[in-house]
Amino acid sequence: MRRYVILGNGPAGINAIEAIRKVDQEGEITNVCAEPYLPYSRPLLPFFIGGQIGEEGVFFRPEDFYREHNVTPVLGEKVLEVDPQREAVITASGRRIPYDQLLIATGGNPRKPKVDGIELKNVNYLTTLDAARDVARQVPDTKSAVIMGGGPLGLKAALSLRHHGIDAKVVVRSPRVMSQVLDGESAVVIEKKLEDSGVGVMTGRDVLALEGNGAVREAVFDDGSRIPCELVIIGKGVTPNLEFLAEAKAIRVNWGIIVNNHLQTSVENVYAAGDVAESYDILSGKSNVVAVWPRASEQGYVAGYNMAGFPKEYVGAHRMNSLDFEGVSCIVMGDVRNIRQDYKVIVQRDKGRNVYQKIILHDGKIRGAAIIGRIVNVGGINRFIRRQINVEAFKSSLLEERSTFIY
Ligand SMILES: Cc1cc2nc3c(=O)[nH]c(=O)nc-3n(C[C@H](O)[C@H](O)[C@H](O)COP(=O)(O)OP(=O)(O)OC[C@H]3O[C@@H](n4cnc5c(N)ncnc54)[C@H](O)[C@@H]3O)c2cc1C
Repeated sequence: MRRYVILGNGPAGINAIEAIRKVDQEGEITNVCAEPYLPYSRPLLPFFIGGQIGEEGVFFRPEDFYREHNVTPVLGEKVLEVDPQREAVITASGRRIPYDQLLIATGGNPRKPKVDGIELKNVNYLTTLDAARDVARQVPDTKSAVIMGGGPLGLKAALSLRHHGIDAKVVVRSPRVMSQVLDGESAVVIEKKLEDSGVGVMTGRDVLALEGNGAVREAVFDDGSRIPCELVIIGKGVTPNLEFLAEAKAIRVNWGIIVNNHLQTSVENVYAAGDVAESYDILSGKSNVVAVWPRASEQGYVAGYNMAGFPKEYVGAHRMNSLDFEGVSCIVMGDVRNIRQDYKVIVQRDKGRNVYQKIILHDGKIRGAAIIGRIVNVGGINRFIRRQINVEAFKSSLLEERSTFIY
């Protein structure tokens, strides 16, 4: 009987458990998790602080998930070390848990900017349920908030704070919001929508320091100006959470944990998936870490099958972000920022309706697409990118509503 140990109960860990149970009913599964909670969804945390959902709404599996899947949960217990030689993990309470197959799915840690005053009270990262609870507690005493970072987390957080009537300002060092994924024109559509919703967007600016007496009271900018704030949310991305591998030299690490196309690390019976893993990217041909939910889910699922001895290949992924800005949906797939001269670009826009749709083609294959305001054919476009299908013959209908693609 195999002993499986899964570190983490985010989408990567949970999908791995479900995959294992599809093919192995007997094996022992232990799920070790630093946080004391049932599996919850980080993308839903902004909606919890915005009051659109209650706390119970963030959990993405039912209470009896562990019993139904015959899994031993070890919740609220942080892993401090992985010992691949002795095939065991060691937790903060000194517990040693042996494994035959190990999955590391420990996600990411928020990036902490080097800013004076970052340790003040009410400066928050919003990446965990505990952090979201802290923000929710602070909301009634907050008139103004500063959000550092213009990525999806920051923008969603800003809109949620607006729901409480808080004066929310997003401060972005780069010239546009979501600069990692959006091109200039698509960012303008999103910035306009944010401003229409009452969110202040300050691009090309940086917070140099946070000041206050115990709790944050003011943000100081690079030009010396200041704005008052009783709450700061930092959304500057995440770095893979793998410090417990410091002694496990056999597990190869670059930015994230390096995995092959079976999600296997450099140690045969150790796998990694989700935000902690560095895996193959279809478009660049290189490996990278892209911290998004669908990628974590799929990787966990594929890893689970492989751990159970049912070989399954992970074909690789491409960047994909999907967000809704209060009725203006935005889906970005692949790369829409870097456009070479030999690429073809198809664009449709309707500024009055916040519609902007753009597809980038190279040699008949889609490299990237930004679909904003009117969502059409994203399932198909996503698959065309993923499988690198030549769409030359029907490219003019890619953005048409009611198109049907058979492939
Ligand atoms: C506020 C917010 C909004 C987001 N919005 C979106 C969105 O709109 N769309 C999207 O695609 N993605 C979004 N994301 C990103 C998405 O949530 C992640 O990509 C996804 O959760 C990664 O899944 P994972 O399973 O790899 O790790 P995680 O979900 O991060 O789970 C990691 C697990 O590992 C546990 N763990 C960590 N360290 C240890 C340790 N040492 N020992 C034991 N257990 C440990 C943690 O407690 C946790 O349970 C958002 C993230 C945040 C924070």
